Amino acid sequence: MAGIDLTFLGTGTSIPTLERNHSAVHLFYIGKKTYSLLFDCGEGTQIQFLKAKINFMSVDQIFITHWHADHFVGLFGLLVSMGFEKRKREIKIFGPKADKIGPELLKFYALPFPVKFFDSYKKGIIYEEDEFLVETIPVKHTVETVAYKFQEKNRLKLDKNKIKKLDLTWQECRGIKEKRKIKKDRKTIKLKDVSYKIEGKKVVYAVDTIYLKKMENFCKDSVLIHECTYFDRKDVRYKMHSCLPDVLKFRKKAKRIYLTHIGRQYQSQSELEKKVEGYKNVFVAKDLKKVKI
Ligand SMILES: [Zn+2]
Repeated sequence: MAGIDLTFLGTGTSIPTLERNHSAVHLFYIGKKTYSLLFDCGEGTQIQFLKAKINFMSVDQIFITHWHADHFVGLFGLLVSMGFEKRKREIKIFGPKADKIGPELLKFYALPFPVKFFDSYKKGIIYEEDEFLVETIPVKHTVETVAYKFQEKNRLKLDKNKIKKLDLTWQECRGIKEKRKIKKDRKTIKLKDVSYKIEGKKVVYAVDTIYLKKMENFCKDSVLIHECTYFDRKDVRYKMHSCLPDVLKFRKKAKRIYLTHIGRQYQSQSELEKKVEGYKNVFVAKDLKKVKI
């Protein structure tokens, strides 16, 4: 059974605290193969990997939301450590204008493996594997910023009752899965006639943005990881971020919400949890917390 393991590596903002490091979320997708993806890579992310007991060498794709220090400065240390660990495999890095910005950032480093940069400042699919897609949508912050959506592809599963009814053998089932149709007793049986759809799982990562109406559609049926720099509207100092009342608007669309990018003025996790305890699908993320989807 395919699954997603999320690990919050950093849930703080520009100035870290002892409890909250800079932004980073790791995602393992366990399907036919296992994929290891990283969303943002704030300073010290490689140490957070060690604490979370995840091998950072497994990461093959990194998705940067924007080029503010608290979201990407950890790239340098992480990539250099990967080099010292004798990485040879290519790594792909996505971000707004990353095709231009990325090579500039790394020009003083001679890494022993290829680093490929891709611009993600657009709307739509930016990356695809056999089992999942990554989509983006531009959001609104002080610089070009995107939100990412990891989307497992929908799957068709054979319906046991329909198979029994049509008296299909194990080989016929295999044939229908591979070729999407077979002929039996001069009749064509299509895969869609004997299967049902399993909706793919979705994870949306949206940090450093104001509330945007268009995000409601983008986060539909997803596990939404959304920034919540401020918890009360009266605390808002920099207007290009979100506060709790903004994020709560996504409750009806998203399956679950994890609040992250939490301002350092909020020291007590339990106090923040109290603020959301009335909303059963809203959680306050914390560093090194793991979530299974
Ligand atoms: Zn930030």
